[in-house]
Amino acid sequence: MKISDVTYSVIVPLYNEELVIRETYKRLKNVMESIGEPYEIIFVNDGSTDNTKTIVTDICRSDSNVRLIDFSRNFGHQLAITAGMDNSCGQAIIVIDADLQDPPEVIQDMIRKWKEGYEVVYGKRLKRKGETVFKKVTAKLFYRFLNSITDVDIPLDVGDFRLIDRKVCDALKLLPERNRYVRGLISWLGFKQTGVGFVREERFAGETKYPLKKMIKFAMDAITSFSHRPLKIATYVGIIISLLSFIYLVIVIIQKLTTNTTVPGWASLTVINLFFNGVILITLGIIGEYIGRIYDETKGRPLYIIREKIGFEDELQNKADNERQNKKDD
Ligand code: UDP
Ligand code: MG
Repeated sequence: MKISDVTYSVIVPLYNEELVIRETYKRLKNVMESIGEPYEIIFVNDGSTDNTKTIVTDICRSDSNVRLIDFSRNFGHQLAITAGMDNSCGQAIIVIDADLQDPPEVIQDMIRKWKEGYEVVYGKRLKRKGETVFKKVTAKLFYRFLNSITDVDIPLDVGDFRLIDRKVCDALKLLPERNRYVRGLISWLGFKQTGVGFVREERFAGETKYPLKKMIKFAMDAITSFSHRPLKIATYVGIIISLLSFIYLVIVIIQKLTTNTTVPGWASLTVINLFFNGVILITLGIIGEYIGRIYDETKGRPLYIIREKIGFEDELQNKADNERQNKKDD
């Protein structure tokens, strides 16, 4: 069998996940074996600084269904997923987190839906276990806020845990943008979509690899990729404030003409000044977010850099060729 004949590609992004990989591999393997069709598991090592790479390399050596893409540095979760998709060859592609928060067993339900003809089957989080209140609340608010300001219908409480058809994966490759919010892009593509509910488990081991800083970057990418409304908000705020100041200006002139008291006015001036400076800075910040992203796009750099690929067809082919060559030499 050629590697390119696989039916399912499972993509697992990894960032310092040495504590969970073996268990994740075991559970994934069980599920995929039970389905009984050819599959591959693609681990993408997103610049881990722990033993992640060594562990995955070992697994690759002992199991020909497993492959590794090793990034030259940390490029981020969304690009790790993208690299996995670019290098996958299954008819259906499944993206799953490494930490077993997305239970691998749900893949069976996803495959059932896929066989019914759905081209995107996303996992819908009915409940989130073992996450901080802060994470739960911000996530809930974020998904609702995002939905209210975007024109694309992005399903609520849905992460990257999903199955997509080969057609969707190929279409996704046509979207070259850098600051990727993959689940939004998939919604934008359309296709026949449905969800399967699941309970998001506690992390199997280790800590979240999404500190607040990464969460903010992720949220900003999502918003700026799918909405121009923040730029318009700046305009609206500008208009409202100009109107208010005009009214105040009229009041001041009337006061000056009709009363003799010179208004001391220092406090009000200071307040107004501070307020306007705040508004101007926020507006500039919003514009900056967009301009920064435009700049990123114009540089046209590749999305990610791969240091090494293990277990892929070309590598296996080279190895086989070398062995044949060695035998001949003997
Ligand atoms: N991840 C990654 N690169 C990063 C951060 C995270 O590949 O820079 C991976 C991580 O290893 C995991 C998945 O993305 O497989 C989700 O991360 P995590 O579970 O830490 O996020 P949370 O579930 O806490 O939102
Ligand atoms: Mg997690």
